[in-house]
Amino acid sequence: MTPPSEHGSARQRRASSIVVAIDGPAASGKSSTAHWVAERLSYRHIDSGAVYRAATAATMHSQRSPEWWTDAIVLASAASIALRERGDSFEPVFAGVPMEDMIRGLDVTQNVSRVARMPAVRLWVNDKVRAAADGFDVVADGRDIGTVVFPDADLKIFLVADSWERARRRLTQRLSRRPTDAEIAVETELLVQRDARDAMQTMQAKDAVLIDTTYLTQEEQVERIVALAQAVTQRASDTSPR
Ligand code: C5P
Repeated sequence: MTPPSEHGSARQRRASSIVVAIDGPAASGKSSTAHWVAERLSYRHIDSGAVYRAATAATMHSQRSPEWWTDAIVLASAASIALRERGDSFEPVFAGVPMEDMIRGLDVTQNVSRVARMPAVRLWVNDKVRAAADGFDVVADGRDIGTVVFPDADLKIFLVADSWERARRRLTQRLSRRPTDAEIAVETELLVQRDARDAMQTMQAKDAVLIDTTYLTQEEQVERIVALAQAVTQRASDTSPR
């Protein structure tokens, strides 16, 4: 359920701006799809997972062992993080230094779910995402964008794909070659474990359009979402007072 304070701030965005929310499990292609959809529509892209990753990387930097991390420790470590505009998207920066290189490592991936389960951290990330979106047409991606961050988003998409296929795509991207079945099997197990750790945070909105990308190319996914967004904006302009 959406806490009242969260719902209140979600509504503060400008009435004229459009929000496309893309949610789904790890490696479902959310961020790259959101990036291309935003580019096609000339919207801004906000990757909320990158903000959870940035908070995790900043806390690791403070060198305490993850079992002892609390909301307060994470928020204190993350206090110097800001979302800086970069082209049509945003990148997390720590005391002005871009964090992209540090947030994609295995150590961050293994600990990010622990941080993402902390209620105060979720409020902090949600505020950052809403502030970045305020007044702009945006495509935001994550796990709870259509349910908690922007419950009144104009279009909500929930992307899913077969676990083996998600693992295969992720490895192909990481290794820049065709992965073996044995490699995909190991990656599939890691992905399924992360799905389980993130299950509480991953929510499909009742009014989301479900897209199974297992047999779709990236171009096909993007085309579908762009078509859905264009239908929504067309309907909005048809029904707005002249
Ligand atoms: O999308 P990505 O895999 O980079 O997200 C990293 C982690 O951030 C996820 O595994 C999840 O724990 C957390 N997350 C979340 N809610 C979001 C976005 C990401 O809990 N809206």
